[in-house]
Amino acid sequence: MVSERMKGLGTARSVIRELFEYGKLRAAQVGAENVFDFSIGNPSVPPPDAVNETAIRLMTEQPHLIHAYTSAQGDLAARERFADSLNRRFGTSYSASRLYITMGAAAALTCVFNGLTCPGDEFIVFAPYFPEYKVFIEDAGAKMVLIPPEIEAFQIDFDAFERALGVHTKGVVINTPNNPSGVVYSRETLERLGAILTEKSRQFGHPIYLISDEPYREIVYAGFEVPWVPHIYRDTIVCYSFSKSLSLPGERLGYVLVPEEVTDSGDVYAAVAGAGRSQGNVNAPSLFQQVTSLCCDMTADLKVYEENAKLFVSALREMGYHVVAPGGAFYLFPRSLEPDDVAFSERAKKLDLLVVPGSGFGAPGHVRVSYCVQTDTIRRALPKFQALADSYK
Ligand code: PLP
Repeated sequence: MVSERMKGLGTARSVIRELFEYGKLRAAQVGAENVFDFSIGNPSVPPPDAVNETAIRLMTEQPHLIHAYTSAQGDLAARERFADSLNRRFGTSYSASRLYITMGAAAALTCVFNGLTCPGDEFIVFAPYFPEYKVFIEDAGAKMVLIPPEIEAFQIDFDAFERALGVHTKGVVINTPNNPSGVVYSRETLERLGAILTEKSRQFGHPIYLISDEPYREIVYAGFEVPWVPHIYRDTIVCYSFSKSLSLPGERLGYVLVPEEVTDSGDVYAAVAGAGRSQGNVNAPSLFQQVTSLCCDMTADLKVYEENAKLFVSALREMGYHVVAPGGAFYLFPRSLEPDDVAFSERAKKLDLLVVPGSGFGAPGHVRVSYCVQTDTIRRALPKFQALADSYK
């Protein structure tokens, strides 16, 4: 006998993975240059040179020590460097004692959901959303309450949000810049969200935590601003990752920040650490705790994503696609040319164009296009998008 729930999770098909595997198969049949895979969010630019140089230097200088265990919550010097970097950039005064280093944003989120959840708790998530939230929230024993998408700008449908808030709401999850829409929440959106949460926390007599999932914080385009969310709403817990900003998704490094200002901050931090312990999410990779903390003021050269976004958005709009311009990350979320996004994605697939149906992100009638690819790949893919549009005329 095994856990049916875990068996289900282990065998459930991932549309993104399936498309990715299909792409590899097709590439072997027709040549990689003829398959246009926009399915997966793997950064296309290398990490800064300093990342590999630092890793090599540390392995040479401390051949034994660098691979040793650290404290469960992460090495103190590494946490101090992360805190210093945040304080320099955002004018805060965070200390290492409120940082918990994790294996990427995924583990940061599971530590937070597990740390916060009491029986009957709910977490509100806005569509379109990163599908793993549902797995993480339900695994913690909580319920995910999904707010339908506001499809004109992918900001927040505040009427639906206010209706969903209740005495069982333990937290609200935001992800800006967003996967899959690429949209950045405006300051106005965040301030309105913060005001509602402050009011409802008072009304319900307990804090409603805002969980800000920020793997794309540094990938933001000209004319857009990603405000520091804890400045806007006091009870914000930040989940961060170096997967995208430093192009290190395979090294599994991120952190949870529980600012001192958060209600019951000490208890929340202790519960995050306890959740980490209970899941074996302790001692994130030692080498990369040091490397990322020594390189945390840098980013990979991210400008190609903005170039790609501009090229893609204007070309797709000219072809008649409806697409909200992204403000960051590396995703587009155009409307599918028929209501059935799965059928649309299948039709695209016949042209060797791989885009992910929006239903899995809670926003049917759309598809996700990951443009973390070479700009030339986009240029060569445009005739395929044209052919796809023509096939609906
Ligand atoms: N949150 C969002 C919105 C993401 O898009 C991803 C990864 O793509 C993650 C979390 C998980 O990131 P990590 O690689 O840091 O675990």
